Amino acid sequence: MKKDPPKKRIGIVGVPPLAIIQQLEMAGDAIFDLDEPHVKQDIELASSYLPRVFCAILRTVVINALSLKPDLIYIDVGPGKCDCALHTATILTDILPETTIIQTRNQDRSDFGTPLCTTQMPLLDKISAITRSVQSVKPHQKRPACLPTAGFWGVPPRDFSLLSLFPDTTHVFGWTRCMENKTPDNRAMEELINPDIPMVFFAQSFCAKTALARHLANRHPHGLYVDCDVTAGNSTKAKIQAFLELAAEQKTESRRRQSDFCLLSWALLTFCFLHSFLPSVL
Ligand code: SF4
Repeated sequence: MKKDPPKKRIGIVGVPPLAIIQQLEMAGDAIFDLDEPHVKQDIELASSYLPRVFCAILRTVVINALSLKPDLIYIDVGPGKCDCALHTATILTDILPETTIIQTRNQDRSDFGTPLCTTQMPLLDKISAITRSVQSVKPHQKRPACLPTAGFWGVPPRDFSLLSLFPDTTHVFGWTRCMENKTPDNRAMEELINPDIPMVFFAQSFCAKTALARHLANRHPHGLYVDCDVTAGNSTKAKIQAFLELAAEQKTESRRRQSDFCLLSWALLTFCFLHSFLPSVL
């Protein structure tokens, strides 16, 4: 009996071009998103190859690659990822002679839409689903958009635990939105914000996107800039929690004031009407 050829183990870093994902899907290869933690190794092991003061996502890529030793790694090094990835590609080529490292520059322009970014779902599940969706060329499932009460702007964080602080009605912006749309190099989409909801602008420490995150947060009427390294510490989490709770309280208070104002206006109008047209009654 003819045996199926063994499936290859493929690592991806960033969002590879759609044509590559299509090839991998057709071949049935096993894909590992090396940006996400896959192995329980101390991130300090990456310090032999990358500086300690460096993006924690790419340090994670190195740990994953050393442990999983994929047959091939596609690493995006173009404007849809970053220069840090470009230099990491050089290092991976040196330290993993058995693995083929292929550099890509994803400039896909076909919009797949962003139904997950705007639907009601726990934010952690939503961003996990978005990161999984880059491994497929299938169109997205249609989902109803919810009324947003908060916004998360940024890349999928190295530490997903900070996402559990957000309400299920959080809309997603920034590079994560570009990921779902399958256009990682999409400046206009990355800079999109919603000024009507409180937004957290997140970036990994030591990433160039910290500049854009802070700039957009400063311009937003109700924005909070946050960056964190390997894990989100208690003070970062407390900051996000306090910001979201305060925003929710302010919204409730403004709704209460609006309804008090409506009641008062109605009472005043009724009084004026009675006074003008029914003077004999009064
Ligand atoms: S977080 Fe920034 S530095 Fe790190 S891989 Fe993403 S774009 Fe590059």
